[in-house]
Formats: sequence, structure tokens, C-alpha cells
Amino acid sequence: MTSTSQNLQSVQSSSATSTAIDSHEAQPNLSPIHHQIVIVGGGAAGITVAAQLLKHDRSLDVAIIEPSDKHYYQPGWTLVGGGVFPISKFVRDERDVIPDGATWIQARVAQLDPDHNTVVTQAGQAIAYEYLVLCPGIQLDWHLIQGLPEALGKAGVTSNYSKDYAPYTWETIQTFRGGNALFTQPATPIKCGGAPQKVMYMADDTFKSKSGVGVNTTVMFCTATASMFSVPEYSAALDTVVARRGITTKFKHNLKAIKADTQEAIFDVTTDSGVHEVSIHYDMIHVTPPMSPPDFVKHSPLAGAGGWIDVHPETLQHTRYPNVFALGDASSLPTSKTAAAVRKEAPIAVQNLLSRMRSQPFHAQYDGYTCCPLITGYHSTIMAEFAYGGKLAPSFPLDPTKERYSMYLAKAHVLPWLYWNRMLKGEGFEADVLKPLQKLVRH
Ligand code: FAD
Repeated sequence: MTSTSQNLQSVQSSSATSTAIDSHEAQPNLSPIHHQIVIVGGGAAGITVAAQLLKHDRSLDVAIIEPSDKHYYQPGWTLVGGGVFPISKFVRDERDVIPDGATWIQARVAQLDPDHNTVVTQAGQAIAYEYLVLCPGIQLDWHLIQGLPEALGKAGVTSNYSKDYAPYTWETIQTFRGGNALFTQPATPIKCGGAPQKVMYMADDTFKSKSGVGVNTTVMFCTATASMFSVPEYSAALDTVVARRGITTKFKHNLKAIKADTQEAIFDVTTDSGVHEVSIHYDMIHVTPPMSPPDFVKHSPLAGAGGWIDVHPETLQHTRYPNVFALGDASSLPTSKTAAAVRKEAPIAVQNLLSRMRSQPFHAQYDGYTCCPLITGYHSTIMAEFAYGGKLAPSFPLDPTKERYSMYLAKAHVLPWLYWNRMLKGEGFEADVLKPLQKLVRH
């Protein structure tokens, strides 16, 4: 706690504490709060960074601004949609993941004012900082698909991208009676680039084996992209998967509307001769919505191209405000947006922030590592690990483009455990978990 902050009204803690300043009683123009380090967003990145900072130095005054009283392990939602686990397996109380020594401010940030080292909450509370770490995640723009918000969650329209509908995905797959099963991917950056198709492979397995509707079913992957995946080696592997399964691929198909009454999905299709509207009938449809940076980020001085928080790709420091760092889905880091990327970004942000506080040069550099465990069925996964420039970055001494049962087990059982028990606690797991696993995994 700094001398400045001691003079201001702040919530201090020796163990995790919280204050709800967005409650109905809250009024604008409250006395300003000050914290040495303010973290916006208590998701995967915010909690990991806070835990690592406090591990380095217990005396740091770290506040996390996070509105939700629940914390979700979102990578698990794919498994919920595939009927492997219930949604309850992937949720904890936020208060239980806030690290000891951090202050939780339960509020939603509405405005960023980096010229005055201040953020302002929706309730009008100003919170001043010396250092700011931004990780508010990505915004789901459901409303950009006409008819989708009203259609979601009934009559076969679903999405694993919401905790509210992931269970309905499984209900839909189980009760599907044949026809067209569509799985869409938008034109925008999304979190977990593989999630739009992972659920499709589990659905296809179910149609062909358990429910027996496979013969009467056309499974279609309708994506705004021009290939199955951003990295050519993994994309080629997925080409083989869809061909083997007999899945129809529709590239450059950008979903723009759902007509629930006639069960039509309307796409803008880009061809050499221009953009044409195409309607495809669906009997079930799994939608991945367009996504963008949160509005309060887009409209702030911290936004760069596309509205993402403009940080240096290697150091994670803001390009114009040196006391600001960002990581995770809301950042401009030119890599695939995943919790796995956050795992590698967090120590870089923490080390460079600490260097900045000590007026020392930066030593830590992020290489763009990210990982998308591409579930290709209930017993197989391609562990798609890569870094900047699409450079393959396998953790195991094996061909990473191959489907493996061991990688499915890692995705379904090992990674969630590591998330809750190591990553969110600020612990690395290279030495004592990854190394032994590398020895174990041979096929
Ligand atoms: P989040 O974890 O989303 O956290 C952002 C936090 O900011 C939230 O708690 C939110 O409440 C808070 N917030 C938002 N607005 C404000 C505000 N105004 N003020 C204060 N706080 C705010 N990743 C993988 O590594 N592997 C996978 O297999 C995988 N599969 C996925 C499947 C699905 C269906 C989904 C949805 C995601 C998947 N991901 C996967 C992606 C992964 O969950 C994200 O990349 C990761 O959570 C990003 O971390 P983050 O901290 O940037 O954002």
C-alpha cells in the first residue's frame, strides 16, 4: 500500500476481501478509491496475474475489479455441449478464486481514463491506480445476427459460447431426429478458434453411434473463414477429419440471420463475383456469434486497431501508456485467443510490470504461444499448439497434427484440474506436471 493510497478511501485486505460498489445504493461521485495495481477483469487472466503478483511480493496492493460472483472455466463448455460433464463442474464462486491478499471490487468498469490513471465503474465510482492490468475478455455480439437473440435456446438453436445454452446444445444433439445439423463460425476473431467445430465432431459421433440418426443427417460446417483452421498444418489434419466423417464444408459463409419460424439460416457468401445471400434450412444449428473488444475498451484511448487494447506483442506493455499492461482476449496480441495463451502471457505481464515498477529494463518476452485442443471425437484430440506466425510449438515430442486419445484425456481431465489448482493459484506446471506427462505420452 502506498502513502498516497493510505490517504484515500480504499478497501484494504490482508486476505481476500470484497466490496460491492455497483449496488443500487451506490451513487455517482463517490470518494475516489486508490490502489497501487488495478486489474480489470477477474477471469482467467485477471486471477492468474493477481496470484502471480502476490506470490512475487505479498506487500503489493492489488485490486481486481470483477462484476460477476461466479468464475467459469469456459474451455469446459465444449464438453458440456457434448454431454461429457454437467455445467456445474466448470463454475466456482468468484470469491474462492480471488487470491489471498487481493482486494475484490465487485463492479463493472464503464470508462477508462488513462490520462488521469483512473477507471470509472458503471455506478460512477472512480478508482485511481499507479499501474493498470486490463483483461476484461471478449464481447459476444449475439445481436449482430438478426433473429438470433430471440431464437437461442429453443427449437434447435444453440451455442456453447454461453453457459446458459451449452447444456441445451447437448439436449439438442440428443433429441435430434435427423435432417440438417449446421455449425457456424463468424468472420471476426473469436475465443478458441477450434470451439465452433469441436462440438460438431461430438455431435456427429452421437448421430452415428448413439442416436442412430446419422443416415438421415447432413452435418455442415458453415464458416466465414476460407479454411478449417488458421494454421495450415492443423487445417490439413482437420480436412482429413471432415472428409472421413462425410461432413459438408461451406467456406466463406458468414451467418447474418436466423429465421426461426421457417428454420432458415441466412448467410452472406463471398465468391469471386461478389457477396451473395444464401439460405440453408436447418433442423439444428450451433452458432458461434461474432465477437469484438468490450465496448468500454473500444471507445477508450487505450484501443488500437479493431478496438483491441493496443499492447506490444512481446512485452504486453501498452504502446502509448507505459504503466498499462494487457493480456487475454481483449488484448491486441496477434495470436489465437485461449486460456492456454493466457497461461503463457501472465508471467510475461507480471515480470515486465514488476520491472517497470522497479525502473528496470524488461527481460520477459511472449512468443505468441497458444493452444487449442481440437476435439475430433469422444476419443480423439489434436493438441494444436502454436506460436506467432503459426509456428508449431508442441509440448510433447510427438507429431502434434495427429489425433490422439491421450490428448483427449488431457483436454477432458488434466487441463481443467491444472486450471483450478495451478494456473489460478499463480503456479507454473512445466517442471512437475508437464515434464512427467511428456515422458508418459507416447501415443
Ligand atoms: P475471461 O476469462 O473471459 O475473463 C474476462 C473477465 O472480465 C470476466 O470475468 C468478466 O466478467 C470480466 N469483465 C467483463 N467486462 C468487465 C468490465 N466492464 N469490468 C470489469 N470486469 C469485466 N481456451 C483454451 O485454452 N482451450 C480451450 O479449449 C478453450 N475452449 C473454449 C470453448 C468455449 C466455448 C469458450 C467460450 C472459450 C474457450 N476457450 C478455450 C477460451 C478461454 O476461455 C478464453 O480465451 C479465456 O477465458 C480468456 O481469458 P480472459 O481473462 O482474457 O477473459
